[in-house]
Amino acid sequence: MLKMFIESLKNLFSEPATLPGFGTEPPKGYRGLIVYNKEKCIFCTKCELVCPAGAIRFIYPEDGSRNLEYKYNPYLCIYCGECVRECPKEGALIQTDKMPEPATKEDNPNETWFEIEKLAEESKKKWQLALAKKRQEALKKAQQAKQGKKEDNQDKKN
Ligand code: SF4
Ligand code: SF4
Repeated sequence: MLKMFIESLKNLFSEPATLPGFGTEPPKGYRGLIVYNKEKCIFCTKCELVCPAGAIRFIYPEDGSRNLEYKYNPYLCIYCGECVRECPKEGALIQTDKMPEPATKEDNPNETWFEIEKLAEESKKKWQLALAKKRQEALKKAQQAKQGKKEDNQDKKN
């Protein structure tokens, strides 16, 4: 009993066993959330391709342009940094030491993400069709212009 009392007194006046502030400051070299900068992005989608967790998806625009919309799931991300390493544009993706906000059951981030994944797949298919159409039209225009030039030259000769 006396031993226990002495031990309690010692604990009362000693330093905490845990490190002060532990859990609030990330350790050196800690890897966390990915931050995207659209201004620097060239929409090569390399980050989406290399992501092992499928935490990056792009939504494609209907007009076949390269104005892709970046989507990121911080709850799927494993903070490996592969996307940052593969990104050809410095500053388009940055790895921070931040953690995601805690999500509740009501937030249901996974359900939302399933919808985004579906949209990403569908929009990519539509985008590919729109792009093929755009290219065909451009080719047709170029061929018409070439034909028109040929006819002009023929007229000049005659
Ligand atoms: S850090 Fe890794 S898991 Fe997270 S988005 Fe980048 S590639 Fe994907
Ligand atoms: S790898 Fe970089 S430049 Fe390419 S789409 Fe991703 S963020 Fe943009």
